[in-house]
Amino acid sequence: MKGGLRYHPSLDMDEALALASLMTWKTAVVNLPYGGAKGGIAVDPKKISERELERLTRCFVRHIHELIGPQTDIPAPDVGTNAQVMAWIMDEYSRIHGFSPGVATGKPVDLFGSKGREEATGRGVVFALEEFLKDTGGGELRGKRCAIQGFGNVGSWAARFLHEAGARVVAVSDSRGGVRNPEGLDVPQVLDHQRQKKTVTGLPGADAVSNEELLVLDVDVLIPSALGGVLTKANAREVRARVIAEGANVPTTPEADEILAERGIPILPDIYANAGGVTVSYFEWTQNIQQFTWEEEKITAELRRYMREAYATLSRVARERRVPLRTAAFIVAIGRVGRATVLRGL
Ligand code: NAD
Repeated sequence: MKGGLRYHPSLDMDEALALASLMTWKTAVVNLPYGGAKGGIAVDPKKISERELERLTRCFVRHIHELIGPQTDIPAPDVGTNAQVMAWIMDEYSRIHGFSPGVATGKPVDLFGSKGREEATGRGVVFALEEFLKDTGGGELRGKRCAIQGFGNVGSWAARFLHEAGARVVAVSDSRGGVRNPEGLDVPQVLDHQRQKKTVTGLPGADAVSNEELLVLDVDVLIPSALGGVLTKANAREVRARVIAEGANVPTTPEADEILAERGIPILPDIYANAGGVTVSYFEWTQNIQQFTWEEEKITAELRRYMREAYATLSRVARERRVPLRTAAFIVAIGRVGRATVLRGL
C-alpha cells in the first residue's frame, strides 16, 4: 500500500480513510502495483521546533513500525511533511528492522531518495495539462494564464514548470493569502521571495489577492494545490477557468463537481492529475529494492509515459461512455482493482 503522511491540525481518521481510499484508485489509474494508504498526525509542524518534529516522527514510527514496511505500507510526503521527515522514518524503522531504504519514498536524494521525486507531482500536473490540451485542440501551454492555489511542494513546482513552458502564472497563494499580476508573475522572483519571507504575500510589484478571489479569476487554467474542499457550491458558479487541474486531493466537493460539469468546465481529476508523485515514488521504491539508481532524464521520460498512457485511457473511456474525466478515472480504476480481485479469487 502507498500514500502520503500528513501533519496538519485538522487531520482526523475520517479524512485519512477517505484519502487512503483515493490512493487505491489513483495507483490503479496510473497502473502501479500498489493499494492505497494514508496516515498522519494532527499537529501543526510550524508550531514545533525541528528537534520536536524529529522526536515526534521517530516516536510515531516506534508505534506503527509493525504496520509499515517496504512490502506492506510505504509512506511518502504530503501536507506538512517533507524529505527530512521521510529520512527520519527510514532511519528509525531501520534501527528496529535493519537496513530498509524502501520503507518510505520522497527521501532526500543523498539518502536513497530518487532524482526527480521532489518535483514529480508538479511536473505530472503539467504533463496532464499538456495531454489535455493536445487531446482537445487547446494548443500549447505557452501564453496560457494560470492561477495556482497553494505554493508548497505541488504548487511551487507546477508554477516553475508552467513558467518554463512559457505559460503566464498570473496568481499564486499560500495559507497567508496570494499575489497576482495579470501580465504574469516572475516565478523565480516569487520563489526567492518565498524562501526569504516564508510566504508569497507581499511580493514587490504584485497586487494582493485572497485565496477565495484566486479561485474565481478569469484564467485559462486553475490549479488548486493546497487543501481539499475549496471548490464548493458557493463558488463553483463563479469559477471562470477554462480547465481545472486538481493538484490537491479532493479540492472539489461533489456539489461543485456537478455544477462545474453542468457549466462545461472540464476537470483533470486528482486521482489522475496529481498521480505524478506516487508514480515517481514507485520508481524510488524499485530503485531502493534493486540498489540501482536512475538518471533524472529517465525518471522524467518514464513519468511522461505513465501520465500519457493514463490520459489516453481516461480520454477514450470518457468519450465512449460520454462521462466526465473523473467518472472515467473511477471506471478505469475500479475495473482494474475488480479484475485483480476476481483473478485472485477473493
Ligand atoms: P505542502 O505542505 O508542501 O504545501 C501546501 C501549501 O498549501 C502551502 O503553500 C500552504 O501555505 C498552502 N495552504 C495551507 N492551507 C491553506 C489554506 N487554508 N488556503 C490556501 N493555501 C493553504 O503540501 P503539498 O505536498 O504541496 O500538498 C498539497 C496538496 O497536494 C495536498 O492536497 C496533497 O494531498 C496533494 N498531493 C501532494 C503530493 C506530493 O507529492 N506532495 C502528491 C499528490 C497530492
